[in-house]
Parts: sequence; structure tokens; C-alpha cells
Amino acid sequence: MPNESTGMNPQVAHAPMTQFPVRDGQLVIGGVPLDELARQVGSTPFFAYDRGLMRQRVETLRQVLPPGIALHYAMKANPMPALVGFMASLVDGVDVASAGEMRVALEAGVAPGAVSFAGPGKREAELRQAVSAGVLVNVESAREVDLIGGIGVDLGLVPRVAVRVNPPFELKGSGMSMGGGPKPFGVDAEQVPALLASIGRAGLQFEGFQIFAGSSCLRADAICAAQRQSLELVERLAANAPGPVRVLNLGGGFGIPYFPGDRPLELAPIADNLAQLQRRASVSLPGAVLVLELGRYLVGEAGIYVTRVIDRKVSREHVFLVVDGGMHHHLAASGNFGQVVRKNYPVAIGNRMDGIPQERVSVVGPLCTPLDLLADRVVLPAAGPGDLVVIYQSGAYGASASPQAFLGHPACLELMV
Ligand SMILES: *Cc1c(COP(=O)(O)O)cnc(C)c1O
Repeated sequence: MPNESTGMNPQVAHAPMTQFPVRDGQLVIGGVPLDELARQVGSTPFFAYDRGLMRQRVETLRQVLPPGIALHYAMKANPMPALVGFMASLVDGVDVASAGEMRVALEAGVAPGAVSFAGPGKREAELRQAVSAGVLVNVESAREVDLIGGIGVDLGLVPRVAVRVNPPFELKGSGMSMGGGPKPFGVDAEQVPALLASIGRAGLQFEGFQIFAGSSCLRADAICAAQRQSLELVERLAANAPGPVRVLNLGGGFGIPYFPGDRPLELAPIADNLAQLQRRASVSLPGAVLVLELGRYLVGEAGIYVTRVIDRKVSREHVFLVVDGGMHHHLAASGNFGQVVRKNYPVAIGNRMDGIPQERVSVVGPLCTPLDLLADRVVLPAAGPGDLVVIYQSGAYGASASPQAFLGHPACLELMV
């Protein structure tokens, strides 16, 4: 059967988007039909995030994963303060990538002890804020250890640190590789013993390790392999640690299906693998908690981007739906956020969900650049001005990862439903 949105064969179709129900032809978000939601918001475009779906995702992970695995939210995926506050009520910790994110997490009520701070270029002022708040700093260089040591003396505090390791392996099949080979992230595994010694000399409170090998992976076997290799590496490194390993942050890397041919990640093999690793760690690293830090997997599928058709243009037989949103709000859907080959996100006409897909169209934004392409030659129900185009899988790396000032259009709205 050809696929609705691509017209292609099922092997290269989008995975079905079933997370939002349909009622009377309207996509329903958080119980609210899309046309009603658009009226309530008052203007388009907007991102809408469904609280129920985010809660469900965390509950599913809690049910499937072995007990005792800590779940953290990596808030760079979606730093909207209300969403961070909501996620913080569901997970065991929040990982931040700047002092700005740290402030949002702390203001959302996250306990400082449950916040960890990673990033390759932490400024001294950021480290000072983190140490004085009591946040765990994942150190990524000898410079950071020296600075933190001095800050601890200045403030009369014992800073809490973990070591972010650049492993000698990478997460296979990941959309974005974050480890293996030369990387600006973390400290090369070979250099970690020397760094651990300087952490001991500086009198810092050593708490453990973080290894983040890659992002956006849909292959359970690859995630299991990276997690196993991470534990093996930490077992070796722990021999030189100035204290017991309390935290082993295995990173995340769990992907969601964005593109034709992508299939959802299977959690069961990952859960089995983690149970094995946990048993092993209970002997090799007694007392250590295994942590997963997930961004897009927790929030990506719970969000949609909604943009209204302004104009319908036919250019040499090709139909363009020109919408009021675009790459300035949703760079990733336009294919310009780390994609090598541009592929379409799943899209729908959210107020014509019962319509028969019958027309091949391109959905383009209002910017004066051919990069402002939200969907390239997709088959959709006939649509025109006033209709609402929905881009699925938009809860992560949307608004905050987009050049909103480009061309001076209004900033987009974000809301939780
Ligand atoms: C970006 C990032 C994450 C989250 O990645 P996702 O692909 O959104 O899950 C987790 N940990 C660190 C250190 C990161 O930089």
C-alpha cells in the first residue's frame, strides 16, 4: 500500500503517527481539537506540547527499564521553562548545557543536587554559579578542574564533579556522533587517569563518570553495545579514581522516527542489556547508580508545529502551500539542523485528517530563501489558505534550535496542552 504522506512504498514510508487521536477530521492535542486550539492560541504558527504524552513516555520507560535506572531530562532538547518544570516532576534529574539552562532548571524547582552541567566550553562565571548552587559539574578539561578547585577554595565549598569521558568508541548508527576519535566533548579516555589525579589533589568531591557516545540512534543493538563498552571503560578508569563511583551517566542517544523508513526504537533489548549491566556494576562499582540522560526521546514525539497556509501557488504545475511558519522557527524540519541529505518530517493537514491524500505539494515558509522548505513533494489532502499544516515529531530541537531573528518575522509561540 502506498504511504499517504510520501506516495512511496512502505519500506520508505514514515512510521505511522498515532500518538494524537483524530476527532471529526481534527487532530486532537491534549484533548483539544486543532481548530479549537488554534482559536485559543489566537495566532499561528505555534508549537504545542502534549503533557499526557510526555508523562506516558516517562511511565513507559519506568515500566520497561529495570528499577534503579535513573532517568534524566537533557533540557537542551526543549528548554521551555514550563516544560522543564513539568519534566522535572517526572524524572530524577535534569542535565543542563549552560548556566542559562541551569538557571531555568533551578527556577523550575529542580533540586541543585539533581542538576548536572556538561558542555565543552564552560566559562569561569558559569562554573562559579554551578559550584555555588551545588550542581554536579561534568568536567571536560584540565582547565575546568583547576578553575573549580580555585572556586571551591574561594567559596569555602567542596565542588561536586564527574568526569565526562570522550570514549575510544562511538555510538553506531547515530544521527550525531558525540564520541570516538578527536572530539571537543569530554576528556579523551587516555587522559582521564591524570585528570582524576588532579581532581584528588584539588580536594574536589568526585562523583563518577559521564559518557555520551552519540545521539538520535534508532538501533537498539548499537545502544546496547555502546552502554556495555561504557561500563567496561568506566570499570578500568575507576581504578584511578579518587573516590567511589556513585554515578555512571551512560548518556542517551535514544532516537525517534523522523524520516521515511525510520522505525521506532525497540526498548526491550535495551532494558535486558541494562539489567545485565546493572548486575555487573553492582559488583564492579558497588553503590553506583546508572543514569540515562534523554532529550528528544522524552519530548520529541509529544510536540507538533502548527502553521497556517497563507497562499497556494502553482508554479509550472508544481503546487506550493506557502505557510506562515518556516525554518526560522523549525530549522530541523527544513533539513538544515545537522542533516546531510534533506528528508521530510512527517506532516499532515491537521484540520483535514479525514481528507484523502490526493495532491503532491511542497510546503514552504515565507522566507526569501529556497532553504525555507518544510515538506518537499508530499501527498496531502487538497488544502489552501486557512488550513493548518502540522509537522509531527517537533517537541525537541524546534524553537530553541532555530534562527528566529532571521528575516524579522514574529517569534513563534510555544504552549503546553
Ligand atoms: C544533547 C545532549 C543530550 C541529549 O541528546 P538527545 O539526542 O536529545 O537525547 C544528552 N546528553 C548530552 C551531554 C548532550 O549534549
